[in-house]
Amino acid sequence: MKLDGKVPTGELSEKWTQYRGTMNLVAPNNKRRLEVIVVGSGLAGASAAATLGELGYKVKCFTFHDSPRRAHSIAAQGGINAAKNYQNDGDSVYRLFYDTIKGGDYRSREANVHRLAEASRTIIDQAVAQGVPFAREYGGLLANRSFGGVQVSRTFYARGQTGQQLLIGAYQSLSRQISMGNVTMYNRHEMLDVVKIDGKARGIITRNLVTGAIDRHSAHAVVLGTGGYGNVFYLSTNAMNSNVTAAWRATKRGALMANPCFTQIHPTCIPVSGEYQSKLTLMSESLRNDGRVWVPGKKDDVKAIREGRLKATDIAEEDRDYYLERRYPAFGNLVPRDVASRAAKVACDEGHGVNATGLAVYLDFASAIMRYGKSEAHSKGMVNPSEDEIKLLGEKVVEAKYGNLFEMYAKITGEDPYKSPMMIYPAVHYTMGGLWVDYNLETNIPGLFAVGEANFSDHGANRLGASALMQGLADGYFVIPYTIGQFLSNEIRTPIIDDQQPEFEAAEKAVKDRLAQFINIKGKQSVESFHRRLGKIMWEYCGMSRNEEGLNKARKMIQELRAEFYSDVFVPGELNEYNPELEKAGRVADFLELGELMVVDALDRQESCGGHFREEYRTPEGEAMRNDKDFTYVSAWEWTDTTADPTLHKEELEFENVELKTRSYK
Ligand SMILES: Cc1cc2nc3c(=O)[nH]c(=O)nc-3n(C[C@H](O)[C@H](O)[C@H](O)COP(=O)(O)OP(=O)(O)OC[C@H]3O[C@@H](n4cnc5c(N)ncnc54)[C@H](O)[C@@H]3O)c2cc1C
Repeated sequence: MKLDGKVPTGELSEKWTQYRGTMNLVAPNNKRRLEVIVVGSGLAGASAAATLGELGYKVKCFTFHDSPRRAHSIAAQGGINAAKNYQNDGDSVYRLFYDTIKGGDYRSREANVHRLAEASRTIIDQAVAQGVPFAREYGGLLANRSFGGVQVSRTFYARGQTGQQLLIGAYQSLSRQISMGNVTMYNRHEMLDVVKIDGKARGIITRNLVTGAIDRHSAHAVVLGTGGYGNVFYLSTNAMNSNVTAAWRATKRGALMANPCFTQIHPTCIPVSGEYQSKLTLMSESLRNDGRVWVPGKKDDVKAIREGRLKATDIAEEDRDYYLERRYPAFGNLVPRDVASRAAKVACDEGHGVNATGLAVYLDFASAIMRYGKSEAHSKGMVNPSEDEIKLLGEKVVEAKYGNLFEMYAKITGEDPYKSPMMIYPAVHYTMGGLWVDYNLETNIPGLFAVGEANFSDHGANRLGASALMQGLADGYFVIPYTIGQFLSNEIRTPIIDDQQPEFEAAEKAVKDRLAQFINIKGKQSVESFHRRLGKIMWEYCGMSRNEEGLNKARKMIQELRAEFYSDVFVPGELNEYNPELEKAGRVADFLELGELMVVDALDRQESCGGHFREEYRTPEGEAMRNDKDFTYVSAWEWTDTTADPTLHKEELEFENVELKTRSYK
């Protein structure tokens, strides 16, 4: 199969404008006759459904949640990037483009990333018009903060609730279209298959999660905005029910899964506290604007801390190792996530970890509190303020910036982060891999599109902070509404798709048979126990660092676990009723296949890049060592059947506008 990214010709900065201005259009009267299914109501799906509805298409939008507003996007804390240059600090569309390409370790498509940087500016205007309450400066302009891997401040935020506020904006637009009858909303419906007719995506099969009913839904095109698959690791910062089923069902129908091994491990999460934990909590990257990361330099101090004889605040300044500032002076605590995560792992592997498990480092706000406190005291005209007065003033500033995150940390850990440093450790957070899409965001199945975290996206091997919201909203508000027209303009003579065709019948039967299979196994082990075991394999062998031996071992272990699942899983209840265990069984079954593909992909990619760190390929200083000669490609995997090896299709990446360099944040 020859993969065509369909990147338009012309100058990089002109491609999108020219393409948009010359692409096929669908006339308004024809739009009204064309149906589009959008699966997902997170930022990507909701913005796509709302905008397609506004354009006049007949949209059906699906979510397994009880309201579109419950999508995982609501969890996003830190912010959304845009090249507005409000800070006058040298930002531009080109710089955002360049930072993203470099941050992704040169494994993304130039043209897509440039389009993303262009669209970033309009997203902010759109959101402001919707009333999204972004933080503002004293004078009224929107405020910005910095995120990792960049040297400008371009992140727009609404305290630590940016995703929630943006989702309310998108939901509001979606609600308007629902009330006008342009979008029909299907809550609590889980998509369990894609229906293909004559090679084109023409519908989906869903299960009503309340009644258990299996339904057919047809349309001229299908858009998946179904999020990421980080929960394959069991423990992650993702919402508990985020899963890969929609994308994986599409893969089983022939869509290609791209770069599945590119996983983002976020450096600042609350460390794992016990065997029976089922969720990890993110402490937003925005905290690294002011928090300094360190571990005790002396092993004796580490031991004393672990035994409770010393506290973090007892460690003298000269005995602390601010290892990010030491190793990466140019970016310091704001190095990108992959770099910061690996550095934390190195510090802990060398025996400097500060909690009982040895898997935690400090994120310390003491110097920021003093710095802000002094500035506040000065602006208030206070003469010789005491240290306590300064601290109090500083804490107020920090509270205004990150109050809800500090409160969350205190509630979960019982520690006061204003008084002693937070303890943090890397955790699975985001998946750069996903369905392969061309420049139109269309998969290799005509008429099947993917937006947001569900596609393999614009982030290469490592996503920069605050760029997922940007990409999801760019895809939904500003890209798919145009590019879907390229496909639909050729469908204006296609009548409403009849869901009584044999392809629908076959897909519905396949879904029912599969669900019945889970129920009929009647084994002894819970679905959850398989998920937990899979997660451990993934984290151990395909997590923050990987090697050939471990990956081969993991592949075998996953195959064995999968076989055990199909012979010994216990799914109580029936098909035709509310049955959350049955829902989970299907999702875990899909993770058990995806996990293997991730391992296969990690084995194939014999280089280290971004979040993919192969221990065999590192520089003498321990940094990731890319192999541009052999691996400057997107790995797009075909895998419809577990009995055969997956087939690799390569999309060679061409860099015409940036020079491939060794990434350095020193
Ligand atoms: C804790 C946390 C904080 C984050 N903070 C930031 C941040 O500050 N800035 C940033 O840029 N990014 C952040 N991210 C990443 C960002 O939130 C996500 O990448 C983004 O929200 C994904 O949006 P989405 O629309 O693609 O998917 P989601 O929001 O995951 O939505 C998926 C939708 O698909 C539906 N769905 C899925 N499968 C099916 C199915 N089979 N059938 C029916 N419906 C289905 C779901 O119901 C849901 O509506 C954060 C992530 C986490 C975990």
